[in-house]
Formats: sequence, C-alpha cells, structure tokens
Amino acid sequence: MEKPKLERKLRLAGISEDDIQCSRMLAVSIARMHRVAFGEDSMPSITTFTGPSEGMSFACYFPAADEYGIRAQRISRRIDEERKRCRPAISDSEKFLPAALCSSYRSVAAWFSERMKAELSREEICFLIALHEVRHRMQVKQAGLRMFAPQSEGSDHLADQCMLLVSNAFEKARRRYAANGKPQAEIERRIDSLEFDACVVDRYALHRFHPRLTVREVRNLLFLSPR
Ligand SMILES: [Zn+2]
Repeated sequence: MEKPKLERKLRLAGISEDDIQCSRMLAVSIARMHRVAFGEDSMPSITTFTGPSEGMSFACYFPAADEYGIRAQRISRRIDEERKRCRPAISDSEKFLPAALCSSYRSVAAWFSERMKAELSREEICFLIALHEVRHRMQVKQAGLRMFAPQSEGSDHLADQCMLLVSNAFEKARRRYAANGKPQAEIERRIDSLEFDACVVDRYALHRFHPRLTVREVRNLLFLSPR
C-alpha cells in the first residue's frame, strides 16, 4: 500500500502519530535489510496490522505467505520497552544456567551491561528487529545457511557469549511461560530453534552496531554462522 494511503488507514484505525512514525521507521528498516540479504528482486510485502498486539510480537515474518508483518498498535511503547530489555540482568545467572556456566555468564553479563550503558535509539532497535526478521526469512529461503543452536561453537568469542546469553534468556522464558500455565506446544513454538538462531544473530549485531556500518558489514552480520 502506498504511504499516504496506509497512514490514512492507520489514523482511521486509531493508531497514534507516534505509532505511525515507528511503524514507518520499522518498515523502512526491514526493506533496507531485506535488500542487503536478497538484493533488489523478490521483495515480499510488508503488511502493517492495526489489531491488538497483546502477547504477540510487534514484527514477524510469515513463511507460508512470504510476508513481513508489523503491528502498529502501541509499537512505540514496545520499542521503548525493547530499549531497556536489551540489557541482560546479571542476577539471573544462578537461576537459569547449569552451574558450570554460571561464572562465565556472570562475567559476560557484566561486560554486556557495561557496554550497553547508553540507551539505544528507536532507529537502532528498528535496525535490530529488521535484522532479526530478515534472518527468519533467510532461515527458510537461503540454501545452505548454517544456524546457531545451543551446542554450536561460535565463529568467535562474541558469538559464544551471545549463545550463552540467549540460552539463559530462553531458560528464563521457558520457566516463566510454564509458571503462567502456557501449554508446552506453545512454549516450544515461542522459543524454538529458529528463534534461538535469530536471537543469537541480533544479540551479536547489538554489540557490533555503530551508526556507520557499511553494507558489507551489515551483510556479514546477517550471514553470521557457527564455526
Ligand atoms: Zn523471531
């Protein structure tokens, strides 16, 4: 849908100007990121939804329809929440990882939170979300892509650290979902192997991000793979 028409539709659906602006920013980021991975052809549609997004992701990739989706409702608030969530909580360490990994998690988490003292901008969050969603499309469309799994060996030290952080975050989420009575199938769907891989890549990018990344550097982030 062309831009003025889409924005009119969003306004009519009661989406705030701030949310419209964030949806636009994210759509532009996804389109750019998609071109870095796949070139000029085969741009799937990027659909903006206006319905409630409670408990659902504000961006997604639908493999069956080959389509990117953005949920406009309250997206600005969710992006701002994401700006805080990017920092790992050191105190999680003892609870969610095998004892042998706890001390290394503690030092990794301490280093990450030091690195992340400056809050990320909305543009930076959109960059990371776009990277995550385009990686999901690559998982389906990019022949030979090697994905990260909890037992993978990272291509470098940072990748190893990212796997540790994502493992911990997944274990924490698994326990939270179970405590909230979510069915096992739903838990497995939310934190499956595809999600693990995309999360490792976006974590890694978070710590390699700077405002003047070249296209080649962004491409290297998108194509990150285990050893
Ligand atoms: Zn995902």
